[in-house]
Amino acid sequence: MSETHMSANRRFELGIVGFFIFMPPIGGLVALYQALQDTTKFGQSLGLLAWLCLLVGAHIKFVRPFFRRYPVVRSYKEIAEKIRSYNGRHAKLTTNVWRSRILRSAYRIGFFALTLPFFVGQYMIYGHHFVWFTMGWIVAGFGITVGYHRIGTHPSFKCPEWVRAILLVMGSMAVQGPVSEWTKKHSKHHAFGETSADVHSPYVFEDSKRGIFIEQFYAFMHSFMMWAFREPSLRRPKGMSIEDWKSDLLANSPNPATFKFREEDRGHWEVKDKSGKIVASTEKLIKARWSRFVDVIVGIEQDKTIAILGQPLVYLGILAVSVGAPMVLGGISIWEVLARVCYVNWATFCVNSVSHIWGEQPFQVPDNSRNNAVVEIIALGEGGHNTHHKSELWAQHGVFAWQFDPSAILIKTLAFFGLARELNLPSRAQIKAAWRGWRRREPTMQGYLAPTWEREISSALVEQISAPEEAIV
Ligand SMILES: [Zn+2]
Ligand SMILES: [Zn+2]
Repeated sequence: MSETHMSANRRFELGIVGFFIFMPPIGGLVALYQALQDTTKFGQSLGLLAWLCLLVGAHIKFVRPFFRRYPVVRSYKEIAEKIRSYNGRHAKLTTNVWRSRILRSAYRIGFFALTLPFFVGQYMIYGHHFVWFTMGWIVAGFGITVGYHRIGTHPSFKCPEWVRAILLVMGSMAVQGPVSEWTKKHSKHHAFGETSADVHSPYVFEDSKRGIFIEQFYAFMHSFMMWAFREPSLRRPKGMSIEDWKSDLLANSPNPATFKFREEDRGHWEVKDKSGKIVASTEKLIKARWSRFVDVIVGIEQDKTIAILGQPLVYLGILAVSVGAPMVLGGISIWEVLARVCYVNWATFCVNSVSHIWGEQPFQVPDNSRNNAVVEIIALGEGGHNTHHKSELWAQHGVFAWQFDPSAILIKTLAFFGLARELNLPSRAQIKAAWRGWRRREPTMQGYLAPTWEREISSALVEQISAPEEAIV
């Protein structure tokens, strides 16, 4: 094959990529054409979208930085206990605790209330078409975040098997492949984040002759969606026993000679003692992490629910129902169903790419994962990605007072009704320690889009850090 001719495989890959990139704009043009039949409706719909953008903008630019002063807000139970123990002697302190808690709750309820005109307005314009789109997004979206991710890949809480099965079926509707492949590949991302063995790192380690702009675009597209077509499958070959498959995998760990990582993560991939002597070499660490990863995916392979949902017929059946139901029951066009598919996929793609490039880094981790405010909102809380990489077993990714995490709200709601238990959550001390460390590293706590007025209050913040535990609420 000459280099100037694309292979069939490559053409297929580009076709799929092209579909996902151009589908939303094409869908948008179709919607635009329809909407222009009735310009009033189109104008109203656009106005509602602008309202939503304004809300998100205000959240990022003003409210989020304001809440950065409160790494943790105490629960009502804790506040009640505090009031009892102080017996009124520290009235000022308790008032402050109450104030921050009430402020935060009021903000969250207020933010939700302010988004309602958008949803009600769109419903008045598009009727049941908008309802089906929103339902598809919520079902498939939570299926990915809570189902595939927070219980499928990382067992961050416990729940009855039927609840888990429902969550995984919901995830199977998102058109992101069967749960078995998804969870295995995602485990690899956690084991080898930001190295040449990572599944979707925006860091490209190969020598390139491309210009820096093209290089960055290429790297972004790789972490966004191209990786999905390059990463080899982790499926167990037909007829191979689990033991054989496991020893086969163990023998195929990444080659230390070609293994690459970011220079700032050297301490993670090459451990030295105080005298500078290497106590754990890269080779040894790769082996240890690879064998842990193999244990995880062998566990996934032995999971009965995941195995059933991974059967091609079962998986395709769920897909057919999720695409067919809105068309048959709601009279929704295939384009509208595909718009939902694209939206949920784009949100997931943003977690893998955007949240590994832009955002805040309160926790120190051996990769470039970040907490991104926009991704938090569009991907139902998954944008708290730096927190997630700190401990993949935490059921809550938005652990700081200023973050949004609807997926954690869903898990806590399930727990409230007795359908989830043993939620793995960080302690308040861990959150505060991370907040203080971040404060020391980045005095203005800027991730991105930090307002200038935040710098003016920084001296007050420094005082808070040196203040005793009680002063930070
Ligand atoms: Zn990640
Ligand atoms: Zn994860």
